[in-house]
Amino acid sequence: MKKYTAEITALIIASVCSVGLTSCERNVPASENSGGNDISTTSSETPEISEIPEIPEIPEISETSPIPEKKIEVIDGITYVNGILIANKSYSLPSSYNPGGLTDETYSAFEELSYAASVDGLDIYISSGFRSYETQDEIYNNYVYWNGQEVADTFSARPGYSEHQTGLAIDVNTIDDSFAGTPEAIWLEENCTDYGFIIRYPQGKQDITGYQYEPWHIRYVGKEVAEALRDASISAGDPTLTLEEYLGIDSYYHN
Ligand SMILES: [Zn+2]
Repeated sequence: MKKYTAEITALIIASVCSVGLTSCERNVPASENSGGNDISTTSSETPEISEIPEIPEIPEISETSPIPEKKIEVIDGITYVNGILIANKSYSLPSSYNPGGLTDETYSAFEELSYAASVDGLDIYISSGFRSYETQDEIYNNYVYWNGQEVADTFSARPGYSEHQTGLAIDVNTIDDSFAGTPEAIWLEENCTDYGFIIRYPQGKQDITGYQYEPWHIRYVGKEVAEALRDASISAGDPTLTLEEYLGIDSYYHN
């Protein structure tokens, strides 16, 4: 009886071990095979392809180009590229986003700019600053009514896509083509960087920004970014380098 019990026990142990081993083998992922090279070439079965472990990409840092690698973050529905808030045709704002007016920083930077221009005998004033989602909705739909959507899209943002909703953009003076080439427009182009602003929709960049040339539309980005953009512009040999080009992003309606 004792011998019989021992034999049974041995049998059970052997059986369990066998099942255990088979099970283990089946669970070994292909990638854990030593070297990953031992895929049978004689088997008619489709060989399992080892997963190549992902090697983290090391960003190439070019010492000659001051254009940084882009990092896109979305916080509360608002897109920041390298920490810069972006509202263009590719990146919209939530309809609820409402800073209530121009940001304090934008306003005081504009006051400095405007004062400096006045010292030079020029008058640069705000014609349109902050616009809420609702206001933009009215404006855009009015343009669509009169011009059709295709034309309206070249100069007016759809609600949620306007930079004016950020509280960081300002349209100065006459807001029309007659502003181009005026002493104020030239002054703005030459000096706005010093106050942290950029001409957001330069001439000849409609395909990139998604908008016609708007010499009156300035965007506050802060002095540091404005200067970095100017440096990148000089380095690229392109006096009208856009924020899109600088950050490596696009601007077109995805829907
Ligand atoms: Zn504008």
